[in-house]
Amino acid sequence: MSNLSASHFHNEEAAYAYVEARLWPNGPVCPHCGGVERISKMQGESTRVGAYKCYQCRKPFTVKIGTIFEDSKVSMRLWLQAMYLIAGSKKGMSSNQLHRILGVTLKTAWFMSHRIREAMREGDLAPMGGDGIAVEADETFIGRVPGVAMKQGGYQHRMKVLSLIDRNTGKARSMVVDKVNLATIQPIVKANILAESRLMTDEANCYHGLGRHFAEHGFTSHSRGVYVMGDVHSNTVEGFFSIFKRGMRGIYQHCSPKHLHRYLAEFDFRYSNRSALGIEDSERADILLRGVVGRRLTYERAGATA
Ligand SMILES: [Zn+2]
Repeated sequence: MSNLSASHFHNEEAAYAYVEARLWPNGPVCPHCGGVERISKMQGESTRVGAYKCYQCRKPFTVKIGTIFEDSKVSMRLWLQAMYLIAGSKKGMSSNQLHRILGVTLKTAWFMSHRIREAMREGDLAPMGGDGIAVEADETFIGRVPGVAMKQGGYQHRMKVLSLIDRNTGKARSMVVDKVNLATIQPIVKANILAESRLMTDEANCYHGLGRHFAEHGFTSHSRGVYVMGDVHSNTVEGFFSIFKRGMRGIYQHCSPKHLHRYLAEFDFRYSNRSALGIEDSERADILLRGVVGRRLTYERAGATA
């Protein structure tokens, strides 16, 4: 028995029931008027699976409304399979793989993966860290910025990523940045990490002077070959970058700048909900499912027309 043999991956009624139980833990909620009473399941042979009628506003609805599944013709059971596969594959999954596994067109697979990445986006943007908690920050470069010439020893032609990892929760938060300099990096670091925290970085100039803002700023001098001094290091975030880069290299070879933030959301999601933190595949897929609400992505916004 594979994990994908559960009925909600194969039976549409079961798939809807699975999603409804997680998005409506206290019973159906009308997306039109917010009502929770006098709602009944629509019956009858011509009725769509998962259709309800609200007798307060007299409108029909399904659990798909207001989620990434809305306006999609893909069956719920295939969405659940796709989410399980993407949430569980350590380095990610290409649209091409998804297309072959699920038997949907490549275009559909591409669109599904972007919507799923949207659901992976962390909604909680409260600052990381806290009293005495170490938070690591580091930057990396990936791919190419189209139209920017390569200069000797420079990084302007590459896309730039800043990642923060809270050593206490084990969670990662990454963002695309325009420049890796003090003026760009420091406001982000200050806004995303509580001042009571212990900031851990390398010796890069963009972090210079942050010791005045945080309880401590520990940094190691990589240029002098020092990578660890006690618990002062940025090895955790560097480990995250290596997973990210392996995934991007192997699977997402042609990532354009306008999609990079979604790939980062995907790698942040898997890292922040990894099994080393006690979160196993089915739980991770359920956490992902809770993120589908309010993340509807139109075809245009996904960049499909470009
Ligand atoms: Zn209603």
